[in-house]
Amino acid sequence: MLLSIWTTLLVAVSGIQIPFTLDTGDTDYVKPHYSLVDEALHPIDLSQYADEIVLRARKTPELLRFLRNENFTIWANNAVESTIDFQLPALAASHVLLRFALSDARVIIKDLAQAVFELYPEEYSGKQFGEYSAESAQSFEDYAALLFETLSKKEAVAAATDMFFKLYRSLDTINMWLDMLAQTYPEIMLLENIGQTFEDRPLRLVHISVPSPDYPEEKKRTVVVTGGVHAREWISVSTVLYNIYEMLNHYENPDLVDELARLNFLFIPTLNPDGYEYTWSTDRLWRKNRQQVSEDEQHPCKGIDIDHSFDFHWTESSDSICGEDYAGSKPFEAYELRMWNDYLNKTNINHTIWGYVDLHSYSQEILYPYAYSCDQSPRDEENLIELAYGINKAIRLTSGKFYTVLPACIDRDSDLLPDMGSGSALDYMYHHRSYWAYQLKLRDTGAHGFLLPDKYIQAVGEEISAGLKYFCRFILDNE
Ligand SMILES: [Zn+2]
Repeated sequence: MLLSIWTTLLVAVSGIQIPFTLDTGDTDYVKPHYSLVDEALHPIDLSQYADEIVLRARKTPELLRFLRNENFTIWANNAVESTIDFQLPALAASHVLLRFALSDARVIIKDLAQAVFELYPEEYSGKQFGEYSAESAQSFEDYAALLFETLSKKEAVAAATDMFFKLYRSLDTINMWLDMLAQTYPEIMLLENIGQTFEDRPLRLVHISVPSPDYPEEKKRTVVVTGGVHAREWISVSTVLYNIYEMLNHYENPDLVDELARLNFLFIPTLNPDGYEYTWSTDRLWRKNRQQVSEDEQHPCKGIDIDHSFDFHWTESSDSICGEDYAGSKPFEAYELRMWNDYLNKTNINHTIWGYVDLHSYSQEILYPYAYSCDQSPRDEENLIELAYGINKAIRLTSGKFYTVLPACIDRDSDLLPDMGSGSALDYMYHHRSYWAYQLKLRDTGAHGFLLPDKYIQAVGEEISAGLKYFCRFILDNE
């Protein structure tokens, strides 16, 4: 219904026909249209996305610069197809399409407010976020307690975990689930807080290491997996969590026991906890962290893009303080990264890091270093590419999904806009800390983009778990 209103408006305002097709992936909505639901029952303020759409268009340097200068939100780049996905008001679409002659552009999300509305659980309706989050964690705890009364410890955890992955979860429930795992597997799993964020949330690490007389800690190879660097990429958080459980659930599996004994895992499910909570409480599409970036207390803009804040080829961003890619005024200005870097400097783990995998969304890509420039080849490019294709195959054999392998500089458009590639986690970890490093952009390829429905949590968890197992085997075999 709304779509036809927009179509009419567009035609009325611009006098032209919309020059793109409207085949979209977001047609499987199950809730009533948000505009028909009392605003008091909306989980967050949905009017902030009203009449916004997401377009996919052929990428040109002019379009890219325009989108950045005008502060339009860029959702994704597709380097292979040479397209760009970006968010804009429906009413601005015809102007942009005509100005840049984007005759083959198409709408990939036609009703952003509704797509956001669909993502939040029914139980959030009519509540403040704090209330919903506490209630949701409590009901998960009650359910788990019932399971523990009737089942063995490991069966109870398995059943509770099955329930856990049916929805995306806010930090209260995530922390409760992690505590439950740590209590169930105390000999293997250790939870550690390495400091407090700007908004005073703990930055939590999950260590998993199977004790073995043959492989004491200092002989093990460490694999670091991070998620939630960008707040709105919820699937990256759930996928790190899924992989934590996979490792715990299979450590006694005879096929894996020797490999797991040789490894030490360090998982950070949410490297940006403040941003993640903000996507639950206020703005589903927030990307940066939430720290104050201006001396002026009244300054409306907050946050640093964590993936531009690492101290490797860091440069000042051409984006404004309010922009989505704002890199801060110096490297490691982001609170989370200072904590993470201090932690690496003072622990022995630092000397044993073999692999780093940073999960993001969306686009289904396996990106290898470097991000900052395509002129600089990584020290062992052939091996990195070989391993990337191995991960690609492991994913494909699990779910049939295809993840494109490419250097991160192409995905970042570092050739067009050099500062877009600066200060990334991938480059810093690869150059200073780890032998192997990748950034994986998870599902999908644009039908839902950042708003991937929760019914895909398990499937994405499984395919990435297959990829991670392949990654571990490869780095153990490779001297
Ligand atoms: Zn990201």
